[in-house]
Amino acid sequence: LDPNGGHFSNEEHDVDRALRPLSFDDFAGQDQVLENLKIFVAAANGREEALDHTLFHGPPGLGKTTLAHILANELGVGIKVTSGPVLDKPGDLAGLLTNLDERDVLFIDEIHRLSPIVEEYLYSAMEDYKIDIMIETGPNARTVQINLAPFTLIGATTRSGLLTAPMRARFGIASRLQYYTTELLSTIVIRSAEILNMPIDHDAAIEIAGRSRGTPRIANALLRRVRDFAQIKGDGKIDMKIAKYALEALNVDAHGLDEMDNKILTTIIDKFKGGPVGITTLSTAVSESAETIEEVYEPFLIQQGFIIRTPRGREVTENAYKHLGRVKANNLGG
Ligand code: ADP
Repeated sequence: LDPNGGHFSNEEHDVDRALRPLSFDDFAGQDQVLENLKIFVAAANGREEALDHTLFHGPPGLGKTTLAHILANELGVGIKVTSGPVLDKPGDLAGLLTNLDERDVLFIDEIHRLSPIVEEYLYSAMEDYKIDIMIETGPNARTVQINLAPFTLIGATTRSGLLTAPMRARFGIASRLQYYTTELLSTIVIRSAEILNMPIDHDAAIEIAGRSRGTPRIANALLRRVRDFAQIKGDGKIDMKIAKYALEALNVDAHGLDEMDNKILTTIIDKFKGGPVGITTLSTAVSESAETIEEVYEPFLIQQGFIIRTPRGREVTENAYKHLGRVKANNLGG
């Protein structure tokens, strides 16, 4: 249930892979983004060129990695996958780049976490398909330039605000992924249940979808847990009754808010009388960076109508009080 997808067992990893859409047609939602990508892919395929470097940004679990794989499939090319924190030496990057075939995709997750040296190294690779490699050491050390096959870099980030300007400028295509509606998520839940061979009622799929924080990864994770309940406590089918029972037992919030979402709302209510409170002050109070609050948590809370942004800071809404079962303090009292 961790939106960052942290702790998957091996079995869950396999299931996760099985549920991952492989083509544009399998991918639900993000219509505007998809429509554009289809055109860019068709054009690149027609010219037999590499697709422009592409950046996906948006909160975790919305399909950035999935889209990178889909793009490689639709381009009919190979994909190599790595991530910002893993790629800590220019040599590792050079190894990956020199092994790419023409038009291949190199996917770098968490691209905002590249070290400055590696990032700088990437610039000439992206721009001119060339890299400088250091050969030998000591007095004989020199650099030679190597030509790379034209390739597509696909970067994903949850924190586009942390991307450097030169990095951002090198992406010809940049798309922001949005939270999914309950309706869309329910179609994803139904598709996943089909793949898992688990019969599910439509209203039960809606119930799971509505508690998934607008996020396909969470919807799939909840489905897997509810499936366990259906198998052991129910009759092997997910209906409304078993879905509700399981979601209660799992202590899942009615809107799918996670711990940090709840912490942000209760902190604004309890420590700042419902706001407005500045982002820096709030960040200190909940021990989370201002950027993460702004890019990962706040967009969902705003979309759900729990928080509004005012010129003087963040304020919680009536909705938030209601959702948390709180009563708004009366400011008129003396
Ligand atoms: P991100 O890279 O943005 O964190 P992922 O691409 O890893 O997210 O998506 C998480 C999981 O959610 C995937 O394994 C996939 O099964 C599912 N998923 C994401 N987007 C969609 C979608 N549009 N349709 C169906 N399943 C999706």
